[in-house]
Amino acid sequence: MPQLQADLLVIGGGATGAGIAWDAALRGFDTILVERYDLATGTTGRFHGLLHSGGRYAVKDPDAARECIEENRILRRIAAGSIEDTGGLFVVTPGDDPAYADRLLAGCAETGVPCEEIGVEQALRSEPRLNPQIKRALRVPDASIDVWLLVNGLARGAADRGARILPYHEVVAVHRGDDAITGVRAHNHVTGEDVDIEAGFTINASGAWAAQVCELAGIEGVGVVPGKGIMIAMNHRLVNTVVNRCIPPSDGDILVPIRTVSVIGTTDVHVTDPDDHEISQDEVDQMLDSGEQLVPGFRQARALRVWTGARPLFRDEKADQAGDREISRAHTLLDHLERDGLARFLTITSGKLTTYRLMAKDTVDGMCRQLGLDRPTTTADTPLPDYRDGSAFRLGGRLRHKEDHLLDEQLVCECELVPRAWLEEHVRASGTTNLDDLRRSLRLGMGPCQGGFCMYRAAGIVQGIKDLAAPEADTSLRNFLEERWKGVWPILYGDQLRQARLDDWIFQGLLDVEHLPGDGAAHVASHGRRTAPAGMPDEDA
Ligand SMILES: Cc1cc2nc3c(=O)[nH]c(=O)nc-3n(C[C@H](O)[C@H](O)[C@H](O)COP(=O)(O)OP(=O)(O)OC[C@H]3O[C@@H](n4cnc5c(N)ncnc54)[C@H](O)[C@@H]3O)c2cc1C
Repeated sequence: MPQLQADLLVIGGGATGAGIAWDAALRGFDTILVERYDLATGTTGRFHGLLHSGGRYAVKDPDAARECIEENRILRRIAAGSIEDTGGLFVVTPGDDPAYADRLLAGCAETGVPCEEIGVEQALRSEPRLNPQIKRALRVPDASIDVWLLVNGLARGAADRGARILPYHEVVAVHRGDDAITGVRAHNHVTGEDVDIEAGFTINASGAWAAQVCELAGIEGVGVVPGKGIMIAMNHRLVNTVVNRCIPPSDGDILVPIRTVSVIGTTDVHVTDPDDHEISQDEVDQMLDSGEQLVPGFRQARALRVWTGARPLFRDEKADQAGDREISRAHTLLDHLERDGLARFLTITSGKLTTYRLMAKDTVDGMCRQLGLDRPTTTADTPLPDYRDGSAFRLGGRLRHKEDHLLDEQLVCECELVPRAWLEEHVRASGTTNLDDLRRSLRLGMGPCQGGFCMYRAAGIVQGIKDLAAPEADTSLRNFLEERWKGVWPILYGDQLRQARLDDWIFQGLLDVEHLPGDGAAHVASHGRRTAPAGMPDEDA
């Protein structure tokens, strides 16, 4: 069995784990990160897209509000290229208590979140689709954040400094000595091999799965309640500003413009399994109704895709026995030396994407404390590799690139303006043949046609570069189609229904993908199976 060694092993390749790998690599630790699937396929790749200003928490949770605004400012400096400065509005819609706006203004003043009231006419001028019946509007520095750019940047930055980033490596056993964790066994889903990793220190950053990893280490009583939330991406930017309802945090109260779509969300239902991505018609209706409240006519707009994610809500059952049943959304760092007498092992869970950097810093600080090392973090002042020029993300960037290359560049994906050269370069650099991983990295097939026009092209290009046998390419294509279908079928109405029929004619009618040679287990869209292929989870927008 292959053996690896490192100073630090990080379990989990979401924003928190990737943030820890980057932070630790900057502090000079030889680091390995293992993630059971592709990077950011857990909660991070299934979130709402909002870089919080802190406004949402200013009344109920002032500490969270302070953390958010501070991190919001830092991330705009160090990860500018993944952030679009959309700004945010809190609007009082008909039926909402107008007095809550005063509490929000006071809470923001108290916590240092910039917040100013603007006239309703001004709000409607800047966002003409907003409900014209709104009573008040407050402006805050919310933004949207592209999480794949962020996590890929963190992983690449860590790798540039020597970290080994191992996607598709699932921890299946945790090795422990008498009083310390010494490493893990990971199963490589690509090669089918197991690998033993010996680590000087291990950090469990597996979010909603943190309790399961603790159980592998024989640690009892770590309760992480998955709080499932549903989000729907609408095909257009119905708004260009993040729009929050000016009410205490609730379901379906935020509309986030991100890239070419706007996303309404979310709910919070406690479930037992973080991999439970079941979506009910009631939840879809609830989100569409919430959208109507903010933007009249929302239901007539084209819904592109629906997905769910699981918030890791921490509840320490040891603390429960002491009578404290509070479930926490603030991030929680468990020092298993203090809690369980097990050295060289920390668990970090809960929190928000907006505060991933702070979570990473606190965790690596915790490790340094336990090891008696003095190596301060530098992440607040070190831009991620691609963002050194400090330019923020601009929506028109890809279009401008295309216009500069009208005659000399072939597009593979017209919806997301992905040139063939990008696909070829990425396949050669990453070595992946997984079309779904390529989707996340390049946004290939994420637009209105959901891969209908680009995926058979991409499958052919990948097959050519990697010299795949036909059954391998067919299986990759089928798996992609099945993944996409899961996020489409619960919102099949109107234009997206027409699109799904067209895609079905292309893939079933023309190409008969169902019966091409290859792994026979995968069934595609029109057959309506919802189970994920090869152990993969449902996917994001
Ligand atoms: C519906 C919803 C909307 C949200 N919206 C926002 C928002 O707008 N703004 C915001 O700031 N926050 C938001 N959040 C919160 C935010 O998304 C999460 O706090 C954050 O993404 C958690 O990141 P993480 O890295 O800790 O966990 P994850 O991203 O879940 O990463 C943990 C990783 O561990 C991996 N893993 C699990 N078990 C193993 C194993 N045995 N071996 C190897 N790897 C393993 C998983 O595959 C996963 O990728 C939202 C959350 C939800 C659920």
